[in-house]
Amino acid sequence: MKTVYLDNNATSQVAPEVLEAMLPYFRDLYGNPSSMHTFGGQVAQSVAEGREQLAELLGASPDEILFTSCGSESDNTALLSAVRSQPEKRHIITTRVEHPAILAPCQNLEREGYRVTYLGVDSRGRLNLDEYAEALDDDTAIVSVMTANNETGNIYPIAKLAEMAREKGALFHTDAVQAVGKVDMRLHDMPVDFLSLSGHKLHAPKGIGALYIRKGVRFRPFLRGGHQERGRRAGTENVPYIVGLGVAAQLARRNMQCEQVEVAALRDRLEQGLLAAVPDCMVNGDVENRLPNTSNIAFRNVEGEAILLLLDRLGICASSGSACTSGSLEPSHVLRAMGVPFNYAHGSVRLSLSRYTTREEVDYVVREFPGVIAQLRAISPFK
Ligand code: PLP
Repeated sequence: MKTVYLDNNATSQVAPEVLEAMLPYFRDLYGNPSSMHTFGGQVAQSVAEGREQLAELLGASPDEILFTSCGSESDNTALLSAVRSQPEKRHIITTRVEHPAILAPCQNLEREGYRVTYLGVDSRGRLNLDEYAEALDDDTAIVSVMTANNETGNIYPIAKLAEMAREKGALFHTDAVQAVGKVDMRLHDMPVDFLSLSGHKLHAPKGIGALYIRKGVRFRPFLRGGHQERGRRAGTENVPYIVGLGVAAQLARRNMQCEQVEVAALRDRLEQGLLAAVPDCMVNGDVENRLPNTSNIAFRNVEGEAILLLLDRLGICASSGSACTSGSLEPSHVLRAMGVPFNYAHGSVRLSLSRYTTREEVDYVVREFPGVIAQLRAISPFK
């Protein structure tokens, strides 16, 4: 059975060009970029090239890029650097719909005595700018708001939010793990101080990420030891993966405009096909302002996990909007923050496409999905 992979917000396929570019660094070019000899030096050159390619995608300078191991490390590093470098400030602002890579360190900082404001969202997942303006004060060390939400695909007005933070003298971080490679990032046009990204969401491998740190922003390392990354992160560089991330960034830059149209058209075909074929369902999130590849659909009176199981039998990979918390299925924190009614939130499924998704795959899903929902509704305990 063929796999139809519609779970690209969980992770994405490594692009063939990325794999090809990485292979020599496992086989032949295994030097350490910190070594004095020519063998290591040529590898240091490849790391520098990867940094330039990524900086180009972000509209940043290469020396503003710090390579990390993943998006979670970038998120933790940004938050901790901001609070440790401004010990006089004790307030953090974030949102209720962030990824756990932001929420968990914020909760930890609360245990250390920091005050954290978690901004709420409306039923479509949008922030209220008045509530944000009220929360900002002279004690705010950092604001962290994601560029795009991993579950709904909602895009947040980062430029405006960053401007408001700067006016109050607060640093601004954005978790752009889901956005980089899918939407344009012109960092030098926005007062963003930190930005996190992760390779495996843009067709590079898992285990490589990066943090953009605006020139001039005070920085405190998270990992201490050797002098790699100009003393900002200890640990021998993951050369093959840095090379891979650089090539993935180059491909994203080249393909982005075309993908924004083509992937969005396929996503819309899928979404409209499902909305037309299945009764009692609705789209979660802000349809006018979301990633081109993401659709989150709530099917009334069915269990999301059961939908995933039946889809899996058809070779279709997707994600649900529920997570198993202490033995029971709870709608995700994002859908709860949006106040999605329980009998819809439970049956929410996220479908996320990529440049590798085909029209045939989309049509297959639209053909098979209604039968899955009908089958589950026939045996549903909720009526
Ligand atoms: N932030 C967001 C919005 C994400 O979607 C993810 C991963 O799903 C992460 C952070 C964590 O990234 P990583 O898996 O590279 O640690």
